[in-house]
Amino acid sequence: MTEYTLPHEGLVSKPAHELARMIQAGEVTSRQVTQAFLDRIDETDSEIKAFLHVGAEAALAAADEVDAQVKEGREPASALAGVPLALKDLLVTTDAPTTAASKMLEGYISPYDATVVAKLRAAGIPILGKTNLDEFAMGSSTENSAYQATKNPHDLERVPGGSGGGTAAALAAGQAPLGIGTDTGGSIRQPASLTGTVGVKPTYGGVSRYGVIACASSLDQVGPCANTVLDTALLHEIIGGHDEFDATSVDSPVKALADAAREGASGNLSGVRIGRVKQFDRPGTQDGVRERIDEAFAQLERQGAEIVEVDCPSFDDVMGAYYIIQMSEVSSNLARFDGMRYGLRAGDDGKHSAEEVMAQSRGEGFGPEVKRRVIMGTYALSVGYYDAYYLQAQRVRTLIAQDFQRAFEQVDVIAGPAVPTTAFKLGEKVDDPLAMYNFDLFTLPLNLAGLPGMSVPAGNAADTGLPVGLQLIAPAFEDDRLYKVGAAFEAGR
Ligand code: GLN
Repeated sequence: MTEYTLPHEGLVSKPAHELARMIQAGEVTSRQVTQAFLDRIDETDSEIKAFLHVGAEAALAAADEVDAQVKEGREPASALAGVPLALKDLLVTTDAPTTAASKMLEGYISPYDATVVAKLRAAGIPILGKTNLDEFAMGSSTENSAYQATKNPHDLERVPGGSGGGTAAALAAGQAPLGIGTDTGGSIRQPASLTGTVGVKPTYGGVSRYGVIACASSLDQVGPCANTVLDTALLHEIIGGHDEFDATSVDSPVKALADAAREGASGNLSGVRIGRVKQFDRPGTQDGVRERIDEAFAQLERQGAEIVEVDCPSFDDVMGAYYIIQMSEVSSNLARFDGMRYGLRAGDDGKHSAEEVMAQSRGEGFGPEVKRRVIMGTYALSVGYYDAYYLQAQRVRTLIAQDFQRAFEQVDVIAGPAVPTTAFKLGEKVDDPLAMYNFDLFTLPLNLAGLPGMSVPAGNAADTGLPVGLQLIAPAFEDDRLYKVGAAFEAGR
Protein backbone atom coordinates (compact mmCIF):
# COMPACT_ATOMS: atom_id res chain seq x y z
CA MET A 1 0.00 0.00 0.00
CA THR A 2 3.03 2.23 -0.26
CA GLU A 3 1.40 4.53 -2.78
CA TYR A 4 -0.53 6.07 0.11
CA THR A 5 2.48 7.04 2.19
CA LEU A 6 4.57 10.18 1.79
CA PRO A 7 5.77 10.38 -1.85
CA HIS A 8 9.52 10.46 -2.52
CA GLU A 9 9.43 13.32 -4.98
CA GLY A 10 7.56 16.47 -5.85
CA LEU A 11 6.40 19.37 -3.69
CA VAL A 12 4.28 17.13 -1.45
CA SER A 13 7.36 15.10 -0.43
CA LYS A 14 9.16 18.09 1.06
CA PRO A 15 9.29 19.14 4.72
CA ALA A 16 7.55 22.38 5.68
CA HIS A 17 10.75 24.35 6.40
CA GLU A 18 12.07 23.56 2.90
CA LEU A 19 8.78 24.59 1.29
CA ALA A 20 8.86 27.85 3.25
CA ARG A 21 12.39 28.54 2.01
CA MET A 22 11.41 27.82 -1.60
CA ILE A 23 8.38 30.12 -1.37
CA GLN A 24 10.40 33.02 0.07
CA ALA A 25 13.17 32.46 -2.51
CA GLY A 26 10.60 32.69 -5.29
CA GLU A 27 11.36 29.17 -6.53
CA VAL A 28 7.72 28.24 -6.17
CA THR A 29 4.54 30.06 -5.17
CA SER A 30 2.46 29.30 -2.13
CA ARG A 31 -0.47 28.78 -4.53
CA GLN A 32 1.49 26.04 -6.33
CA VAL A 33 2.44 24.40 -3.05
CA THR A 34 -1.08 24.62 -1.67
CA GLN A 35 -2.56 23.33 -4.93
CA ALA A 36 -0.14 20.38 -4.92
CA PHE A 37 -1.40 19.30 -1.49
CA LEU A 38 -5.04 19.87 -2.50
CA ASP A 39 -4.43 17.63 -5.54
CA ARG A 40 -2.86 14.98 -3.33
CA ILE A 41 -5.91 15.13 -1.03
CA ASP A 42 -8.12 14.76 -4.11
CA GLU A 43 -6.17 11.72 -5.30
CA THR A 44 -5.91 9.87 -2.01
CA ASP A 45 -8.60 10.92 0.43
CA SER A 46 -11.38 8.73 -0.91
CA GLU A 47 -9.24 5.90 0.53
CA ILE A 48 -7.52 7.54 3.51
CA LYS A 49 -10.53 9.57 4.72
CA ALA A 50 -8.41 11.98 6.75
CA PHE A 51 -10.51 15.07 6.04
CA LEU A 52 -14.06 15.91 7.13
CA HIS A 53 -13.95 19.16 5.18
CA VAL A 54 -11.58 20.55 2.54
CA GLY A 55 -11.53 24.32 2.08
CA ALA A 56 -9.69 24.72 -1.23
CA GLU A 57 -10.91 28.23 -1.99
CA ALA A 58 -10.01 29.69 1.41
CA ALA A 59 -6.63 27.94 1.37
CA LEU A 60 -5.74 29.29 -2.08
CA ALA A 61 -6.86 32.80 -1.11
CA ALA A 62 -4.51 32.67 1.91
CA ALA A 63 -1.74 31.38 -0.37
CA ASP A 64 -2.26 34.30 -2.76
CA GLU A 65 -1.73 36.76 0.08
CA VAL A 66 1.65 35.19 0.84
CA ASP A 67 2.56 35.26 -2.86
CA ALA A 68 1.76 38.98 -2.96
CA GLN A 69 4.02 39.52 0.06
CA VAL A 70 6.89 37.71 -1.69
CA LYS A 71 6.31 39.60 -4.94
CA GLU A 72 6.31 42.96 -3.19
CA GLY A 73 9.42 42.07 -1.19
CA ARG A 74 7.71 42.52 2.19
CA GLU A 75 8.81 40.63 5.31
CA PRO A 76 7.25 37.16 5.56
CA ALA A 77 4.52 36.89 8.21
CA SER A 78 6.30 33.90 9.80
CA ALA A 79 8.96 31.25 9.24
CA LEU A 80 6.31 29.00 7.71
CA ALA A 81 4.44 31.59 5.62
CA GLY A 82 2.76 30.01 2.63
CA VAL A 83 3.03 26.40 3.84
CA PRO A 84 -0.43 24.82 4.20
CA LEU A 85 -1.79 22.93 7.19
CA ALA A 86 -4.38 20.32 8.21
CA LEU A 87 -6.48 21.36 11.21
CA LYS A 88 -8.07 18.93 13.66
CA ASP A 89 -11.82 19.50 13.55
CA LEU A 90 -11.92 20.30 17.25
CA LEU A 91 -10.75 23.90 16.74
CA VAL A 92 -13.43 26.37 15.74
CA THR A 93 -13.23 28.29 12.47
CA THR A 94 -15.48 30.95 10.96
CA ASP A 95 -15.02 29.81 7.35
CA ALA A 96 -15.61 26.07 7.72
CA PRO A 97 -17.87 23.84 9.81
CA THR A 98 -16.57 22.53 13.14
CA THR A 99 -18.08 19.18 14.09
CA ALA A 100 -15.73 17.55 16.65
CA ALA A 101 -16.64 14.49 14.51
CA SER A 102 -20.01 14.41 16.29
CA LYS A 103 -23.55 14.39 14.90
CA MET A 104 -24.27 16.82 17.72
CA LEU A 105 -22.42 19.57 15.85
CA GLU A 106 -23.17 18.62 12.25
CA GLY A 107 -22.98 21.78 10.10
CA TYR A 108 -22.07 24.02 13.05
CA ILE A 109 -20.20 27.20 12.06
CA SER A 110 -18.49 29.16 14.80
CA PRO A 111 -18.92 32.93 15.05
CA TYR A 112 -15.22 33.26 15.94
CA ASP A 113 -11.83 31.65 15.23
CA ALA A 114 -9.88 29.74 17.89
CA THR A 115 -6.83 31.73 19.00
CA VAL A 116 -4.55 29.11 17.42
CA VAL A 117 -6.47 29.48 14.14
CA ALA A 118 -6.15 33.27 14.30
CA LYS A 119 -2.40 32.87 14.86
CA LEU A 120 -2.11 30.51 11.89
CA ARG A 121 -3.94 32.97 9.66
CA ALA A 122 -1.74 35.84 10.85
CA ALA A 123 1.33 33.67 10.13
CA GLY A 124 0.28 33.23 6.50
CA ILE A 125 -0.48 29.52 6.86
CA PRO A 126 -3.23 28.36 4.46
CA ILE A 127 -5.66 25.93 6.13
CA LEU A 128 -6.36 23.01 3.78
CA GLY A 129 -9.28 21.66 5.76
CA LYS A 130 -10.54 20.06 8.93
CA THR A 131 -9.37 16.58 9.85
CA ASN A 132 -11.19 13.62 11.32
CA LEU A 133 -10.99 12.56 14.97
CA ASP A 134 -12.71 10.39 17.53
CA GLU A 135 -15.94 12.11 18.55
CA PHE A 136 -15.06 15.00 20.90
CA ALA A 137 -11.48 13.63 20.94
CA MET A 138 -12.43 10.53 22.91
CA GLY A 139 -10.79 7.40 21.61
CA SER A 140 -7.56 5.87 20.40
CA SER A 141 -8.27 4.90 16.80
CA THR A 142 -10.46 7.59 15.16
CA GLU A 143 -13.12 4.89 14.78
CA ASN A 144 -15.37 6.82 17.20
CA SER A 145 -15.91 9.50 14.56
CA ALA A 146 -19.60 9.81 13.70
CA TYR A 147 -18.67 10.32 10.04
CA GLN A 148 -15.90 8.01 8.87
CA ALA A 149 -13.00 5.83 9.95
CA THR A 150 -9.61 7.18 8.84
CA LYS A 151 -7.13 4.63 7.46
CA ASN A 152 -3.46 4.34 8.26
CA PRO A 153 -1.57 5.24 5.04
CA HIS A 154 0.99 2.52 5.85
CA ASP A 155 -1.71 -0.18 5.75
CA LEU A 156 -5.28 0.69 4.84
CA GLU A 157 -6.66 -2.14 6.97
CA ARG A 158 -5.22 -0.54 10.09
CA VAL A 159 -6.09 2.46 12.25
CA PRO A 160 -4.02 5.65 12.24
CA GLY A 161 -4.43 5.97 16.02
CA GLY A 162 -6.54 8.54 17.76
CA SER A 163 -8.04 10.77 18.58
CA GLY A 164 -6.06 12.83 16.06
CA GLY A 165 -5.90 10.12 13.40
CA GLY A 166 -7.00 12.48 10.62
CA THR A 167 -4.12 14.93 11.04
CA ALA A 168 -1.55 12.14 11.47
CA ALA A 169 -2.79 10.23 8.42
CA ALA A 170 -2.78 13.42 6.33
CA LEU A 171 0.88 14.00 7.20
CA ALA A 172 1.89 10.39 6.57
CA ALA A 173 0.09 10.38 3.21
CA GLY A 174 1.67 13.62 2.00
CA GLN A 175 -1.70 15.39 2.04
CA ALA A 176 -0.32 18.15 4.27
CA PRO A 177 3.14 19.17 5.49
CA LEU A 178 1.87 20.62 8.79
CA GLY A 179 -0.93 19.75 11.17
CA ILE A 180 -2.58 20.74 14.40
CA GLY A 181 -3.72 18.24 16.99
CA THR A 182 -4.94 18.21 20.57
CA ASP A 183 -3.65 15.90 23.27
CA THR A 184 -5.65 15.03 26.40
CA GLY A 185 -4.11 11.63 27.00
CA GLY A 186 -2.02 10.99 23.91
CA SER A 187 -4.10 12.10 20.93
CA ILE A 188 -1.14 13.83 19.27
CA ARG A 189 1.70 11.47 20.23
CA GLN A 190 -0.08 8.15 19.81
CA PRO A 191 -1.27 8.75 16.20
CA ALA A 192 2.16 10.21 15.39
CA SER A 193 3.72 6.97 16.60
CA LEU A 194 1.36 4.78 14.55
CA THR A 195 1.85 6.79 11.35
CA GLY A 196 5.58 7.47 11.54
CA THR A 197 5.15 11.23 11.92
CA VAL A 198 6.24 13.77 14.56
CA GLY A 199 3.74 15.04 17.15
CA VAL A 200 4.26 17.27 20.17
CA LYS A 201 2.11 17.85 23.22
CA PRO A 202 3.34 21.15 24.69
CA THR A 203 3.46 21.94 28.41
CA TYR A 204 -0.05 22.50 29.80
CA GLY A 205 -0.72 26.22 29.48
CA GLY A 206 1.82 26.68 26.71
CA VAL A 207 -0.68 27.01 23.86
CA SER A 208 -4.09 28.71 24.02
CA ARG A 209 -7.12 26.47 24.27
CA TYR A 210 -9.55 29.29 23.43
CA GLY A 211 -11.83 28.03 20.70
CA VAL A 212 -10.80 24.42 21.19
CA ILE A 213 -13.88 22.34 21.98
CA ALA A 214 -13.22 21.16 25.53
CA CYS A 215 -12.67 17.47 26.20
CA ALA A 216 -11.11 17.34 29.69
CA SER A 217 -10.02 20.85 30.57
CA SER A 218 -7.30 20.05 33.11
CA LEU A 219 -5.57 17.81 30.54
CA ASP A 220 -6.26 19.25 27.06
CA GLN A 221 -3.42 20.85 25.14
CA VAL A 222 -3.06 21.92 21.48
CA GLY A 223 0.13 20.94 19.70
CA PRO A 224 2.07 20.89 16.42
CA CYS A 225 2.36 17.90 14.05
CA ALA A 226 4.61 17.47 11.00
CA ASN A 227 7.01 15.12 9.26
CA THR A 228 10.18 16.55 10.84
CA VAL A 229 11.14 17.76 14.31
CA LEU A 230 12.23 21.18 13.05
CA ASP A 231 8.84 21.70 11.38
CA THR A 232 7.01 21.00 14.65
CA ALA A 233 9.33 23.43 16.46
CA LEU A 234 8.66 26.19 13.93
CA LEU A 235 4.92 25.61 14.17
CA HIS A 236 5.02 25.46 17.97
CA GLU A 237 6.66 28.91 18.04
CA ILE A 238 3.80 30.26 15.92
CA ILE A 239 0.91 28.83 17.95
CA GLY A 240 2.46 29.13 21.42
CA GLY A 241 2.30 31.95 23.92
CA HIS A 242 -0.03 33.76 26.25
CA ASP A 243 -3.67 34.40 25.42
CA GLU A 244 -5.83 36.61 27.58
CA PHE A 245 -8.88 34.59 26.47
CA ASP A 246 -7.55 31.41 28.10
CA ALA A 247 -7.12 31.66 31.87
CA THR A 248 -4.91 28.56 31.89
CA SER A 249 -2.48 29.96 29.32
CA VAL A 250 0.79 30.92 30.94
CA ASP A 251 2.18 34.41 30.60
CA SER A 252 5.78 33.66 29.67
CA PRO A 253 7.54 33.92 26.32
CA VAL A 254 7.81 30.88 24.03
CA LYS A 255 11.32 29.47 24.13
CA ALA A 256 13.63 29.34 21.11
CA LEU A 257 12.34 25.94 20.01
CA ALA A 258 13.56 26.00 16.41
CA ASP A 259 17.04 26.95 17.62
CA ALA A 260 16.95 23.95 19.96
CA ALA A 261 15.97 21.70 17.02
CA ARG A 262 18.78 23.13 14.89
CA GLU A 263 21.25 22.62 17.72
CA GLY A 264 20.05 19.03 18.10
CA ALA A 265 20.45 18.36 14.39
CA SER A 266 24.22 18.24 14.92
CA GLY A 267 23.48 14.88 16.52
CA ASN A 268 25.68 15.52 19.55
CA LEU A 269 24.05 14.64 22.88
CA SER A 270 27.06 14.68 25.15
CA GLY A 271 26.18 15.91 28.62
CA VAL A 272 22.49 15.05 28.21
CA ARG A 273 21.05 12.62 30.77
CA ILE A 274 18.16 10.54 29.44
CA GLY A 275 15.90 8.59 31.80
CA ARG A 276 14.56 5.13 31.05
CA VAL A 277 11.45 4.50 33.16
CA LYS A 278 11.32 1.03 34.70
CA GLN A 279 7.51 1.01 34.58
CA PHE A 280 7.49 1.56 30.79
CA ASP A 281 9.13 -1.82 30.35
CA ARG A 282 5.86 -3.75 30.49
CA PRO A 283 4.66 -7.18 29.53
CA GLY A 284 2.31 -6.86 26.57
CA THR A 285 4.68 -4.62 24.67
CA GLN A 286 5.16 -5.97 21.15
CA ASP A 287 8.60 -7.50 20.50
CA GLY A 288 9.10 -5.37 17.39
CA VAL A 289 8.40 -2.21 19.41
CA ARG A 290 10.72 -3.29 22.21
CA GLU A 291 13.54 -3.88 19.71
CA ARG A 292 13.20 -0.44 18.15
CA ILE A 293 13.12 1.22 21.58
CA ASP A 294 16.19 -0.72 22.78
CA GLU A 295 17.93 0.31 19.60
CA ALA A 296 16.86 3.93 20.12
CA PHE A 297 18.47 3.99 23.57
CA ALA A 298 21.63 2.45 22.13
CA GLN A 299 21.68 5.14 19.45
CA LEU A 300 21.15 7.96 21.95
CA GLU A 301 24.02 6.56 24.00
CA ARG A 302 26.26 6.44 20.93
CA GLN A 303 25.37 10.07 20.35
CA GLY A 304 26.82 10.91 23.76
CA ALA A 305 23.81 10.77 26.06
CA GLU A 306 23.98 9.10 29.44
CA ILE A 307 21.12 6.65 30.00
CA VAL A 308 19.83 6.47 33.58
CA GLU A 309 17.15 4.10 34.84
CA VAL A 310 14.41 5.92 36.77
CA ASP A 311 11.68 4.51 38.98
CA CYS A 312 8.13 5.89 38.73
CA PRO A 313 6.00 3.44 40.75
CA SER A 314 2.77 5.46 40.54
CA PHE A 315 2.70 5.05 36.76
CA ASP A 316 1.18 1.61 37.38
CA ASP A 317 -2.01 3.35 38.55
CA VAL A 318 -2.23 5.84 35.69
CA MET A 319 -5.08 4.17 33.79
CA GLY A 320 -7.65 4.39 36.58
CA ALA A 321 -6.65 7.91 37.57
CA TYR A 322 -6.70 9.28 34.03
CA TYR A 323 -10.01 7.77 33.00
CA ILE A 324 -11.82 8.84 36.18
CA ILE A 325 -10.58 12.42 35.84
CA GLN A 326 -11.07 12.50 32.07
CA MET A 327 -14.63 11.16 32.24
CA SER A 328 -15.57 13.40 35.17
CA GLU A 329 -14.46 16.50 33.30
CA VAL A 330 -16.14 15.29 30.11
CA SER A 331 -19.45 14.80 31.91
CA SER A 332 -19.33 18.41 33.01
CA ASN A 333 -17.93 19.93 29.76
CA LEU A 334 -20.39 18.18 27.48
CA ALA A 335 -23.43 19.33 29.48
CA ARG A 336 -23.48 22.38 27.21
CA PHE A 337 -24.60 20.25 24.27
CA ASP A 338 -28.23 20.24 25.30
CA GLY A 339 -30.03 20.74 22.01
CA MET A 340 -30.78 24.33 22.99
CA ARG A 341 -27.62 26.20 22.14
CA TYR A 342 -25.54 24.42 19.52
CA GLY A 343 -26.14 22.02 16.70
CA LEU A 344 -28.64 19.22 16.78
CA ARG A 345 -32.10 19.62 18.29
CA ALA A 346 -34.33 16.56 18.25
CA GLY A 347 -37.98 16.09 19.22
CA ASP A 348 -38.84 19.80 19.19
CA ASP A 349 -42.39 19.37 17.84
CA GLY A 350 -44.23 21.51 20.37
CA LYS A 351 -45.53 18.44 22.17
CA HIS A 352 -42.44 17.78 24.28
CA SER A 353 -40.98 19.56 27.30
CA ALA A 354 -37.55 21.21 27.23
CA GLU A 355 -36.17 18.32 29.30
CA GLU A 356 -37.51 15.81 26.81
CA VAL A 357 -36.00 17.72 23.89
CA MET A 358 -32.66 17.84 25.69
CA ALA A 359 -32.75 14.14 26.44
CA GLN A 360 -33.69 13.23 22.88
CA SER A 361 -31.08 15.56 21.37
CA ARG A 362 -28.32 14.11 23.52
CA GLY A 363 -29.57 10.59 22.87
CA GLU A 364 -29.42 11.08 19.11
CA GLY A 365 -26.44 13.45 18.96
CA PHE A 366 -23.85 11.55 20.99
CA GLY A 367 -22.22 8.28 19.98
CA PRO A 368 -21.78 5.31 22.33
CA GLU A 369 -18.29 6.17 23.63
CA VAL A 370 -19.33 9.73 24.52
CA LYS A 371 -22.43 8.44 26.32
CA ARG A 372 -20.37 5.86 28.20
CA ARG A 373 -18.01 8.55 29.46
CA VAL A 374 -20.72 11.07 30.36
CA ILE A 375 -22.53 8.38 32.38
CA MET A 376 -19.38 7.11 34.11
CA GLY A 377 -18.10 10.61 34.80
CA THR A 378 -21.44 11.69 36.27
CA TYR A 379 -21.34 8.62 38.50
CA ALA A 380 -17.77 9.33 39.66
CA LEU A 381 -18.72 12.89 40.63
CA SER A 382 -21.97 12.02 42.38
CA VAL A 383 -22.49 12.39 46.11
CA GLY A 384 -21.21 9.36 47.97
CA TYR A 385 -18.84 8.30 45.20
CA TYR A 386 -16.85 11.51 44.75
CA ASP A 387 -14.40 10.66 47.56
CA ALA A 388 -13.97 7.06 46.48
CA TYR A 389 -13.30 7.84 42.83
CA TYR A 390 -12.61 11.43 41.81
CA LEU A 391 -10.71 12.45 44.94
CA GLN A 392 -8.70 9.24 44.95
CA ALA A 393 -7.81 9.77 41.29
CA GLN A 394 -6.60 13.30 42.11
CA ARG A 395 -4.32 11.83 44.78
CA VAL A 396 -2.81 9.40 42.27
CA ARG A 397 -2.37 12.35 39.93
CA THR A 398 -0.27 14.10 42.58
CA LEU A 399 1.84 10.96 43.09
CA ILE A 400 2.52 10.71 39.37
CA ALA A 401 3.62 14.35 39.26
CA GLN A 402 5.92 13.66 42.23
CA ASP A 403 7.41 10.63 40.46
CA PHE A 404 8.24 12.85 37.49
CA GLN A 405 9.68 15.50 39.78
CA ARG A 406 12.03 12.99 41.41
CA ALA A 407 13.01 11.54 38.04
CA PHE A 408 13.87 14.97 36.67
CA GLU A 409 16.26 15.53 39.56
CA GLN A 410 18.36 12.80 37.93
CA VAL A 411 17.76 13.31 34.20
CA ASP A 412 17.10 16.06 31.64
CA VAL A 413 14.67 14.14 29.46
CA ILE A 414 12.79 10.84 29.74
CA ALA A 415 12.51 8.49 26.75
CA GLY A 416 10.51 5.37 26.05
CA PRO A 417 7.88 3.86 23.79
CA ALA A 418 4.93 6.05 22.80
CA VAL A 419 2.61 3.04 22.47
CA PRO A 420 2.92 -0.66 23.31
CA THR A 421 2.25 -1.96 19.77
CA THR A 422 2.22 -0.82 16.17
CA ALA A 423 -1.10 0.07 14.48
CA PHE A 424 -3.89 -2.45 15.06
CA LYS A 425 -6.58 -3.53 12.61
CA LEU A 426 -9.72 -1.48 12.09
CA GLY A 427 -12.48 -3.01 14.20
CA GLU A 428 -10.07 -4.97 16.39
CA LYS A 429 -10.72 -3.05 19.61
CA VAL A 430 -14.05 -1.27 18.98
CA ASP A 431 -16.03 -3.70 21.14
CA ASP A 432 -13.47 -3.75 23.93
CA PRO A 433 -13.24 -0.28 25.54
CA LEU A 434 -10.76 -1.46 28.14
CA ALA A 435 -8.31 -2.71 25.50
CA MET A 436 -8.72 0.64 23.73
CA TYR A 437 -8.03 2.57 26.96
CA ASN A 438 -5.04 0.36 27.78
CA PHE A 439 -3.41 1.28 24.51
CA ASP A 440 -2.65 4.77 25.92
CA LEU A 441 -0.78 3.58 28.95
CA PHE A 442 2.50 5.26 28.04
CA THR A 443 1.14 8.61 26.90
CA LEU A 444 -1.20 9.31 29.84
CA PRO A 445 1.19 10.07 32.75
CA LEU A 446 2.50 13.35 31.40
CA ASN A 447 -0.96 14.76 30.70
CA LEU A 448 -1.80 14.23 34.37
CA ALA A 449 1.41 16.04 35.32
CA GLY A 450 1.05 18.80 32.70
CA LEU A 451 4.41 18.01 31.10
CA PRO A 452 5.46 18.29 27.45
CA GLY A 453 6.02 15.20 25.31
CA MET A 454 6.89 14.25 21.75
CA SER A 455 6.68 11.18 19.55
CA VAL A 456 9.46 10.98 16.99
CA PRO A 457 9.78 8.16 14.41
CA ALA A 458 12.08 5.33 15.52
CA GLY A 459 11.87 3.12 12.42
CA ASN A 460 9.56 0.23 11.63
CA ALA A 461 9.01 -2.84 13.79
CA ALA A 462 10.62 -5.94 12.27
CA ASP A 463 7.64 -8.16 13.13
CA THR A 464 4.89 -6.02 11.55
CA GLY A 465 6.81 -3.65 9.28
CA LEU A 466 4.88 -0.72 10.77
CA PRO A 467 6.12 2.56 12.33
CA VAL A 468 7.23 2.83 15.96
CA GLY A 469 7.48 6.13 17.84
CA LEU A 470 10.00 7.07 20.49
CA GLN A 471 8.36 9.18 23.19
CA LEU A 472 10.36 11.96 24.80
CA ILE A 473 9.20 13.75 27.95
CA ALA A 474 10.61 16.94 29.50
CA PRO A 475 9.92 18.95 32.66
CA ALA A 476 7.24 21.66 32.48
CA PHE A 477 8.23 24.62 30.29
CA GLU A 478 11.40 22.89 29.12
CA ASP A 479 9.79 21.99 25.77
CA ASP A 480 13.02 23.03 24.04
CA ARG A 481 14.70 19.90 25.41
CA LEU A 482 12.27 17.76 23.40
CA TYR A 483 13.24 19.55 20.22
CA LYS A 484 16.95 19.28 20.88
CA VAL A 485 16.91 15.58 21.73
CA GLY A 486 14.21 14.80 19.14
CA ALA A 487 16.17 16.46 16.34
CA ALA A 488 19.38 14.76 17.45
CA PHE A 489 17.66 11.38 17.42
CA GLU A 490 16.15 12.07 14.02
CA ALA A 491 19.54 13.16 12.62
CA GLY A 492 21.30 10.11 14.05
CA ARG A 493 18.99 7.52 12.47
N1 GLN B 1 -7.27 8.03 24.02
C1 GLN B 1 -7.42 8.88 25.15
C2 GLN B 1 -8.88 9.00 25.49
O1 GLN B 1 -9.65 8.38 24.84
C3 GLN B 1 -6.82 10.24 24.87
C4 GLN B 1 -7.64 11.05 23.96
C5 GLN B 1 -7.04 12.43 23.72
O2 GLN B 1 -5.87 12.66 23.98
N2 GLN B 1 -7.89 13.34 23.29
O3 GLN B 1 -9.26 9.68 26.38
